[in-house]
Amino acid sequence: GEGLLRPEQTRVMVVANQKGGVGKTTTTVNLAASLALHGARVLVVDLDPQGNASTALGIDHHSEVPSIYDVLVENKPLSEVVQPVPDVEGLFCAPATIDLAGAEIELVSLVARESRLQRALEAYDQPLDYILVDCPPSLGLLTVNALVAGAEVLIPIQCEYYALEGLGQLLRNVDLVRGHLNRDLHISTILLTMYDGRTRLASQVAEEVRSHFGNEVLRTNIPRSVRISEAPSYGQTVLTYDPGSSGSLSYLEAAREIALRDPFAQQEQQSMAEGM
Ligand code: ADP
Ligand code: MG
Repeated sequence: GEGLLRPEQTRVMVVANQKGGVGKTTTTVNLAASLALHGARVLVVDLDPQGNASTALGIDHHSEVPSIYDVLVENKPLSEVVQPVPDVEGLFCAPATIDLAGAEIELVSLVARESRLQRALEAYDQPLDYILVDCPPSLGLLTVNALVAGAEVLIPIQCEYYALEGLGQLLRNVDLVRGHLNRDLHISTILLTMYDGRTRLASQVAEEVRSHFGNEVLRTNIPRSVRISEAPSYGQTVLTYDPGSSGSLSYLEAAREIALRDPFAQQEQQSMAEGM
């Protein structure tokens, strides 16, 4: 039943990969919608100044809208910026505006600059099952705030040549944050995106990723799908844009896998940066 997919505690998942265009935002919004459709209450935190996650969820994020910038830099309560996502019950979004582009610099001189998102999430009083944080394609203070606020890191990996290149830097940053700022932080989930099963390259990359990460890699891959890439221009996730499509079904299945995993089972893992 529905209760199966609702964790006992709020699970905060940081969707990160400093490479652009690998499917972070697409994964954040479609997994979030899938979890909500499975009966969970889910908040998407848009931490990318581009605001692509906000756009994809149909959330207004022009520069006057109260946003995650106000939360991080101006101490505005998160509850004052969260908006319900139209058409998907149980799904909410803290939008990003272009103001957030300045936050990397402005945060530097603020107290507790690495833990401002964590504090805001802790002070949020609405019940949530999942918080998914969509990171920008960099490892600056915004991403560090996400890594301090969450216990689980979800890395989307695009099935293409050079898929693992640059990941070492992210993994080392995760180790650093775990060592100094957030003991609970761990890579919980790897998701292969834009998978084209017809090509040799995709299956080779998938094999390489599985041999490096093992159990963290979800069994479900996300196929390359035009419906997935079209949905954001309608302010929709693929789950409402084309519910029966392969993209929609694969995100629903990935969400199910994530929900059925024990988030505390993998915390003893070794450093994954080794050998990268
Ligand atoms: P990131 O947030 O990592 O920069 P995006 O999620 O914005 O990456 O995805 C980059 C581009 O790839 C976008 O145009 C998006 O629509 C497209 N895309 C992402 N996932 C898929 C997919 N499974 N099939 C087809 N296009 C995809
Ligand atoms: Mg993005």
